[in-house]
Amino acid sequence: MSNSALMQRDLKVLWHPCTQMKDHETLPLIPIRRGEGVWLEDFDGKRYIDAISSWWVNLFGHANPRINAAVKAQLDTLEHVLLAGFSHEPAIRLTEQLVQLTPAGLERCFFADNGSSAVEVALKMSFHYWRNRGRSKKTRFITLTNSYHGETLATLAVGDVALYKETYEPLLMKAITVPSPDCFLREEGESWADHSRKMFAHMERALAENADEVCAVIVEPLVQCAGNMRMFHPLYLELLRDACDRYGVHLIADEIAVGFGRTGTLFACEQAGISPDFMCLSKGLTGGYLPLSLTLTHELIYQAFYDDYEKLTAFLHSHSYTGNPLGCAAALATLEIFASDNVIERNRTTARQMGEAVTHLEQHPHVAEVRQTGMILAIEMIQDKASRTPYPWQERRGLRVYRHALEKGALLRPLGNVIYFMPPYVIEEEQIRQLALIATEGIELATRTD
Ligand SMILES: *Cc1c(COP(=O)(O)O)cnc(C)c1O
Repeated sequence: MSNSALMQRDLKVLWHPCTQMKDHETLPLIPIRRGEGVWLEDFDGKRYIDAISSWWVNLFGHANPRINAAVKAQLDTLEHVLLAGFSHEPAIRLTEQLVQLTPAGLERCFFADNGSSAVEVALKMSFHYWRNRGRSKKTRFITLTNSYHGETLATLAVGDVALYKETYEPLLMKAITVPSPDCFLREEGESWADHSRKMFAHMERALAENADEVCAVIVEPLVQCAGNMRMFHPLYLELLRDACDRYGVHLIADEIAVGFGRTGTLFACEQAGISPDFMCLSKGLTGGYLPLSLTLTHELIYQAFYDDYEKLTAFLHSHSYTGNPLGCAAALATLEIFASDNVIERNRTTARQMGEAVTHLEQHPHVAEVRQTGMILAIEMIQDKASRTPYPWQERRGLRVYRHALEKGALLRPLGNVIYFMPPYVIEEEQIRQLALIATEGIELATRTD
């Protein structure tokens, strides 16, 4: 079986996510036969470094022997059981551990099976909490420009990436959108902290004006990943936590992409020393193995739903595969690796190597910025550096880097004109150097005037 034979069969029956399918008339679709560590191997035997952790989910490499063993063992014991009226040990052990690991006060765990659903759970729970407390006028949510919280209708409504949202706008509830602290937009010479503090004035105003109607503010702590890996200072989260308390509004931290060590700490909220009212987890939760997600919250919120059945205050939400035991087993093995391997410490070295490998790109005439938060490193290409004029999106410069990287054996899927590394934590220095070389060549090719 070859790449091209499989590609032909695929294109007859599949409809791929986030894809204009017509692109595949010219862009190869790559069927993967196997994975090992940072490597993916296609059906022609070609290997690619998975520089983006297969959409930010993989933490400890493909076919990780320890996670494999845990999933296999679970498979022979219990593959699945409903979580209503029933329970199982992997779900209990996993949530016990997460209550210990997450910021103080997050003591109740509600399972779903993907990131968007975890966000939907947080939105519904926040609204429902206020309703149960007699505050039914609270129906709205505050979000940041350029944010991303998933692609179901409610999560699109609280997101702000035009590419995903604009088309579906007529179907969406209206969120209150506040300018993001995105530090790419700071003035020259301004520090991340100063910019983030300055931008907080917009949030303060939105809260002051709308608190009576607002259930919660939802935020991606430190990095707006799908929004082109734009970053901000932890100070913003500190100010936000304080303001949410002052105005009686919940804070939802969507750590779906940034959780589990991506930003340099196990959870991004730790860098601001805050605890949100809701924390959404998915992606790295299972080490990139299986769809599973969790929404964690406070005991106080749980108690607002806890009453006699006839009061009809129970939270109403369920998915068929809620708390799947195989997913929980993968998540437990993932946490076990964090506990035994000093991962966060080792990542500090890896993150430094990533940064050092691309510092030369800061001088590139078509690189506006190289920015990094922990294990996320982004390189933003630009048409005109002095005036900060972006390339017209129709030119698809990022796609040129993608094509070059595939040729050279790396999966570097860009976000628009932003090339980024968000690799599995097991990546080695030699592989980082290889990625940096491929990215540099790709950016050179992609930014040539033509
Ligand atoms: C990926 C992502 C989601 C959505 O998760 P899915 O599992 O793709 O539905 C939500 N929020 C953030 C910040 C994400 O990066």
